[in-house]
Amino acid sequence: MTDISEFVYLDNAATTPLSEHVASVMCECLQGGAKGLYGNANSVHSVGRKAFSVLEEARYGVMKAIGAKRPDEIIFTSGATESDNAALYGMVAREIIRRKHSGNPVERPRILVCEIEHEAVLEAADVLKHHGVYVDIIPVNKGGFVEPEIFERMMSDPEWEGQTVLASVMLANNEIGSVQPVAKLAAIAHTYGALFHTDATQALGKTMCDMQKLDVDAASFSAHKVCGPKGVGVLYIKSGSPFNPYLVGGGQERGLRSGTQNVPGIMGCMTAFKDVVEHMETECSRQRALRDKLYAELSSIPAVEMTVEVKPGTLEYLPNIVHVCVHGQESETMILRFDLAGFAISGGSACSSQSLVASHVLRAINTPAHMAKGALRISISSATTQADVDAFIACAREVLV
Ligand code: PLP
Repeated sequence: MTDISEFVYLDNAATTPLSEHVASVMCECLQGGAKGLYGNANSVHSVGRKAFSVLEEARYGVMKAIGAKRPDEIIFTSGATESDNAALYGMVAREIIRRKHSGNPVERPRILVCEIEHEAVLEAADVLKHHGVYVDIIPVNKGGFVEPEIFERMMSDPEWEGQTVLASVMLANNEIGSVQPVAKLAAIAHTYGALFHTDATQALGKTMCDMQKLDVDAASFSAHKVCGPKGVGVLYIKSGSPFNPYLVGGGQERGLRSGTQNVPGIMGCMTAFKDVVEHMETECSRQRALRDKLYAELSSIPAVEMTVEVKPGTLEYLPNIVHVCVHGQESETMILRFDLAGFAISGGSACSSQSLVASHVLRAINTPAHMAKGALRISISSATTQADVDAFIACAREVLV
């Protein structure tokens, strides 16, 4: 096996390496014994207050990075899975109670979720379904986009008048990279009195991700997708939006998410968010050029087809994701062959025990089953160089024949 330190890592949509800057900030925090940073941020004494001030500095930094209005709109979580779960459970529950108290009860609560959401949203919607909430699925077109006209038709369905409490559409997809018209969709949802949540996990630093401009009620983020630590995330809840706490206990995060805060992790998260947003413009155009080169070179290999049509330079798809299907090959076999050659990439198919099943995303965009079997996702980050991409292309010419 190739020495892992020599690996070319091209699976950055799954996770990214910790940046040196983030690591140094976290180390300083973790080794903060002498500086008194080991305190519980909720303790009243000076040691606790020191940790609290660092925590609040991080909250302010995240607020700035995502364009939120107030620091108390930021809730630190364990990652995007928790943020997605908490947003769906917490907002739907509170909104139903709120409407009941306002004398306008919801008889048949309904939510809308997009067909290509991450499982953290789809499974949470399924749990709500088992608690009596109607779940309708918002379809996507063959490019992987929600069409606002279709969304509006679903929102305005007279059969559901006044019953839709929330809609959830991700800002960018983790498999094919399609960027959704979230500002437009959120405005439509609001017109019909529904709340709007977006999973922005893959979007931060790669497309416009400003909470005030998007005007969403809630959004989910994760630090490890932007060269930050794993196990730390953010749930943005717009000030005044209904939200029932999902984790209860000691009342941390103003009672909205209990549990002693992981201050070093949170500082790492804030640093990663700040860095990715600060370098967004230059980094996105650099990554877009690498993406376009990968698409051009890979699709010149006869067996390879682009899964979605990504035009050079387009902003409609993320700058860091390349998704192709290879005729006559299976994802797993190709991933292992690339692995042996020293490249880490991933497939777009989930493998069940007996057969390769196309992912729900590929099924949603009608990718033929024989093509979906050979799905490959190559995803880059700020750590990916031109040389990495060139080496991968040379290897692909040998593997993908
Ligand atoms: N949402 C999207 C779009 C993702 O890509 C991921 C990560 O795979 C998640 C949610 C879950 O994130 P986390 O690993 O932080 O729980």
